[in-house]
Amino acid sequence: MTIEITESSHATVGDITVRRALPRRQRRTIGAWCFADHMGPAQATPTHGLDVGPHPHCGLQTVTWLTQGEVLHHDSLGTSQLIAPGQLNLMTAGRGVSHSEEATGSYAGPVEGIQLWVAQPEATRNGDPAFEHHAELPVVGLAGGRATVLVGSLAGSTSPARTDSAMVGAELLLDGPATVAVDPGFEHGLVVLDGAVEVDGQTLEPGHLGYLAPGLEALTLAPEPTARVMLLGGVPFPEPIVMWWNYVTRDRGEVTRAHRSWLADDGRFGTVESTLARVTVDLPPWS
Ligand code: MN
Repeated sequence: MTIEITESSHATVGDITVRRALPRRQRRTIGAWCFADHMGPAQATPTHGLDVGPHPHCGLQTVTWLTQGEVLHHDSLGTSQLIAPGQLNLMTAGRGVSHSEEATGSYAGPVEGIQLWVAQPEATRNGDPAFEHHAELPVVGLAGGRATVLVGSLAGSTSPARTDSAMVGAELLLDGPATVAVDPGFEHGLVVLDGAVEVDGQTLEPGHLGYLAPGLEALTLAPEPTARVMLLGGVPFPEPIVMWWNYVTRDRGEVTRAHRSWLADDGRFGTVESTLARVTVDLPPWS
């Protein structure tokens, strides 16, 4: 088992500082996972939260997972969904959707979590948008801790959440050494949200991505002394993707068409009921 560790970049989303583990120049995807932002902790008030106004997506799924606090999701499908730790919001963009992430009207305190994107395969990326909330997910006991399965299967338990390609996403909460059986056809990434973990003789801490190539039957992790770790895996994504702003496409022309639709508000991305302003940026430089 050989781990490759890359440092996350630092970015700002809304008012929140994030550690961006994916994409990095050295590592664009892990399976279909193409974006991973460890966000916060930030202090929310009933009227001031992540405050990410309506913005569009296409060709991807957003996976929202909180470790502290509450966030209110609104989208152009008419969804209004509160999310809390232990729950999963999974939004499928397909050909186009828009959403916002807002204060809840009641929660005050820290907000922390991870925002992940999954690239959709050719078969579904131009399909209908959809939204799923899973209030309960399978939790499996491990020697050394437990795992919550967000998507796919781990340790014999399968999440009810939709997947469009062969993949896994799980949160490992460890207080002792653990060995987790994994699919040898998958490549894997580890993002530590809390604490630290020793893998392959190296210490992995928050603000870094640990990458493990396909071919492993199991991962062995030793927390120092406790850790909360996201495990992301999947079959290496077979199609080259072009990511720009909030779009996952196959070429720059698709990006330009998507962004012209958002700027023109022509209906492709729908409308979000929100008190926050629509978020936008200039057209890409090649347009
Ligand atoms: Mn978004």
